[in-house]
Amino acid sequence: MQAPAAAQIVVDQITHMYRPAHGQPVLAIDDVSLEVRPREFLALLGPSGCGKSTLLYLMGGFLPVETGRILIDGKPVTGPGPDRGVVFQHFALFPWKTVRGNVLYGLERAGIPKEERLKRAQAYIDMVGLQGFENSYPSQLSGGMRQRTAIARTLAIDPNILLMDEPFGALDAQTRSLMQSELLAIWRRSPKTVIFVTHDVQEAVYLAERIAVMSARPGRIKSIIETNFDRSDPNLFKQPAFIEKVDEIWGLVRNEAMLAQRLAAG
Ligand code: ADP
Ligand code: MG
Repeated sequence: MQAPAAAQIVVDQITHMYRPAHGQPVLAIDDVSLEVRPREFLALLGPSGCGKSTLLYLMGGFLPVETGRILIDGKPVTGPGPDRGVVFQHFALFPWKTVRGNVLYGLERAGIPKEERLKRAQAYIDMVGLQGFENSYPSQLSGGMRQRTAIARTLAIDPNILLMDEPFGALDAQTRSLMQSELLAIWRRSPKTVIFVTHDVQEAVYLAERIAVMSARPGRIKSIIETNFDRSDPNLFKQPAFIEKVDEIWGLVRNEAMLAQRLAAG
């Protein structure tokens, strides 16, 4: 199958097997193909354990591609790169750096001049609601605050591609809703390709233009659903079309979650 020239990310027949030193190999994802257009906002949805993180690690270059290929702008992924900003579930901050130090780190590496660095770091620290905590160390922060620091660190670099693994999962409902709108605002202001992993159907329908639903492990792409809602509508969550879409996708995910449970039960 020829990839349309428009695709920025091409995932082509990717299979990934974990081979732990002890225990049985785990087939995490099986023959996944997916194409993502430049500046598209795509959500990856699926039950726990279906391989969402695995797929994101592979795109990020944090796991070696063994079977199949992943192309970004036509080039095979061979490792992490500055074109891809990542917010991973367990992507640790530097414990010896403060909130500001952590956010500044990527900007230093990107060679941004000092004054601009400081300005940008502060803007993103404010955006994620951590003003007043600039000099705190990760050990002094709650899980949600650490996650917000990681989000600020990645957004500050303004990468072309954002790979986000349940980035708002650890946040309280209010903060999550604020961060969702901020992310959409950033995406509108400085268009980038976003792959956003979540198991929250409403979040996926709200944020994404396209939703890829994965099956239970071994993960495959089960269906791809286009959404086209006016996200600036403050009553979007109450619109019948929105509710209907959430319901429809819930149905797909629920089936897979039940299958996943049966698999886990043996
Ligand atoms: P998700 O992010 O959708 O919850 P993951 O990609 O984390 O799923 O995991 C997919 C499957 O691979 C799960 O069954 C998980 O237990 C397994 N897995 C993940 N990481 C490893 C690893 N390092 N070694 C062995 N199995 C793993
Ligand atoms: Mg995961």
